[in-house]
Amino acid sequence: MIPHRLFRFSGGSLPYDCVLTLRAAGPMKGRTDEENRARVFSGLGIESSRVVSLTQIHSRTVYVAQTPEDFSDWKEGDGILAGNPDIVPCVTVADCMPIWLCHERAPCFGVLHSGWKGTGIIREALAAARRVWGAEPAGFHVILGPHIRSCCYTVDDDRARYFSENFSPDAVCLDEARNQAGSVWPWRLSLAEANRHLCWEAGIPDGHIVDTGLCTACGSEFGSNHAKDPVHLPTWRPLSGTLCIERPRQFRYTL
Ligand SMILES: [Zn+2]
Repeated sequence: MIPHRLFRFSGGSLPYDCVLTLRAAGPMKGRTDEENRARVFSGLGIESSRVVSLTQIHSRTVYVAQTPEDFSDWKEGDGILAGNPDIVPCVTVADCMPIWLCHERAPCFGVLHSGWKGTGIIREALAAARRVWGAEPAGFHVILGPHIRSCCYTVDDDRARYFSENFSPDAVCLDEARNQAGSVWPWRLSLAEANRHLCWEAGIPDGHIVDTGLCTACGSEFGSNHAKDPVHLPTWRPLSGTLCIERPRQFRYTL
């Protein structure tokens, strides 16, 4: 079994598994090593022909996948929604946030790659779900996955202002010690807070939001670009594959 973390949506009864692999899954810029990807997926008991991936570009572009074949050309974008349980939507992340989401009534599930540039992609995903399935935001459940958190993520004035003005003032906090030391990155940025705000704004109930609370940069298991001593394959940027799987397909874990 490939090392991985498993997350579940709130409520307990939603039939989806959210997986973060802890082994290098390949870079986020599209196809480079199909064999390695196939090994990672088969190590989790998933046929790689079911997996739908993108060439990720830190955008807010979200696709609705009908069949895995539609995505054999590795389209550019950062989010995938599916209604077909044969599909396993997958994104690749290092320190950006994976966001898993599913609807409690509409047959709609997926995963997003949301770093600082892509923050707001969840809005696009919710709009697509409403358009395609008539799924209202209040029925969505969301998991904010491991990412570089405010304990480790410091930014400059411009980026702090961008988040404060476009998302929420609560997304940034001035670190007084860094400020007094004259750092050009004196602000601490919380991508989780920005996305929590987007969820609230859209009408997703607070009880439907799970924040994993995990920071990729605080430990080495997640393959952070910021980790001092990456433990992963040295020639790979240590990235993780993030999948959302509908469970009735007999996907089983031996954790
Ligand atoms: Zn941290």
